[in-house]
Amino acid sequence: MPDIGEILSRELGSDRVIRADSDRLADYGRDESSLEGFLPDCAVLCRSREEIAWVLRIAAERRVPVTPRGAGSGKTGGCLPVAGGIVLSTERMSELVDIDSRDLVAVAQPGVITGQLQSAVEDERLFYPPDPASLGVCSIGGNVATGAGGPRAFRYGVTRDYVLGLEVVLMGGEILRIGRRTAKGVTGYDLVAGFVGSEGTFGVITEIVVKLLPLPAGVSTLLAVFPTMEAASAAVDAIIHRGFWPRTLEIADRTAVDHVRPYSHYRFPTSTGAILLVELDGDPDGLQSAALRVGQLCEDAGAAEVVVAKGSADRRDLWQARRMISSSLRRAHRHKESEDICVPRGAIAEMIRRIDRLAARFDMPFATYGHAGDGNLHVNVLIDGDRDDPAVAERVEAALSALFRDTIELGGTLSGEHGIGLSKKRFMPLEQSARVLQWQRQWKRMWDPLELLNPGKVLPAQPAGCRE
Ligand SMILES: Cc1cc2nc3c(=O)[nH]c(=O)nc-3n(C[C@H](O)[C@H](O)[C@H](O)COP(=O)(O)OP(=O)(O)OC[C@H]3O[C@@H](n4cnc5c(N)ncnc54)[C@H](O)[C@@H]3O)c2cc1C
Repeated sequence: MPDIGEILSRELGSDRVIRADSDRLADYGRDESSLEGFLPDCAVLCRSREEIAWVLRIAAERRVPVTPRGAGSGKTGGCLPVAGGIVLSTERMSELVDIDSRDLVAVAQPGVITGQLQSAVEDERLFYPPDPASLGVCSIGGNVATGAGGPRAFRYGVTRDYVLGLEVVLMGGEILRIGRRTAKGVTGYDLVAGFVGSEGTFGVITEIVVKLLPLPAGVSTLLAVFPTMEAASAAVDAIIHRGFWPRTLEIADRTAVDHVRPYSHYRFPTSTGAILLVELDGDPDGLQSAALRVGQLCEDAGAAEVVVAKGSADRRDLWQARRMISSSLRRAHRHKESEDICVPRGAIAEMIRRIDRLAARFDMPFATYGHAGDGNLHVNVLIDGDRDDPAVAERVEAALSALFRDTIELGGTLSGEHGIGLSKKRFMPLEQSARVLQWQRQWKRMWDPLELLNPGKVLPAQPAGCRE
């Protein structure tokens, strides 16, 4: 009896199927989460919707699980093949099919790298705003599947706000086109909304229609250095209440700044307790004075230093510091648990106080940074002990559980942009009722009755004895 890798390889060619005899197979069992990898039976690098439909038909007939994979940059284990079987990679489907400057849409295959989509539309003076910090490596298919966000979400929204239509292939091989290409449309139920953020559990996304905006003519970036996170979050309130609508309002705490300092071109004062990176865009004539007024509001809230970028090199330097935070934390510690809670904007200051209390209570450093305009905070639990030591594992689990409980108590949610995947599904009952989870399990089964597509993700197992 041939194994599934051999069957796929015979049809598609051995260069398209990575099997157990290749060292590369392990790469398809990992992502950017802190979870252990899982080895699939094989990974298939599909090149077309028809190939994907064929793979999903064969897999359904043989009851083989399939895990869709974009670029593997996910932070929650969403693309890990926990049940073995096939990893279906879209990395070879990287054609930007169309950029239509009259209709203001772009059509892309799922494997297009997000940053490449952005640059291509910007060449036409158009704008695709969602900008996950991983945009140099992540795929647009992965962004749709996770509902990715990014720093510009405060003004421009997240991936969900830009997806107009999708082509998807269901387990069993049926190809469906859902949604539309028009700017408006309310025909039938919003199936696209269900697929965005479904984390590869409903179907494989094979083509994406996104809406575009005109490219803003100018951008102005400024960095403000504060003594405390309270002062920085007071500045966020002041900026918004004075009627400014920046495209980004990025915040980072003292621990995050201390870690990134050695890698930053900008020299942060040693007294830095928090930073705010603010970016405005629009008509270049008004931007410089708007940046100065925002800078003044930061000073009024207690900023010790405000730097306005003078040109693109300055801007790059300021962003370089922000973008290096995650890797600088990882380099300095044996492990880090990176969470992306989201609280109502008005609860940011209280959430930050609670995070400080958790760090003291569990005696572990926490570094917090993120998108203050949205209340989306990346809380990193930094671990120097052995993560496999049961005492350490128990302490980390208790700290995460307390973090999520505080988040939900303040009206927040478990994930602002990374998704639930594998790493957070056990916490879902903290936020959603048994009945809501039950409805979602039924929804999943509607698309994938055999439950073979990305099994074991998003929803915790149905409690024993519970009938749906
Ligand atoms: C340094 C760094 C910074 C990051 N910054 C951000 C950020 O600012 N904002 C943010 O939202 N995320 C961020 N991320 C997380 C990650 O980049 C996003 O979740 C991204 O959307 C994942 O895309 P991917 O192509 O790598 O998908 P993968 O990791 O390969 O997969 C993610 C999920 O999508 C599913 N999937 C992938 N492609 C398809 C498809 N074609 N059809 C169906 N399902 C599919 C997978 O099954 C899995 O469940 C960051 C990650 C890193 C490492």
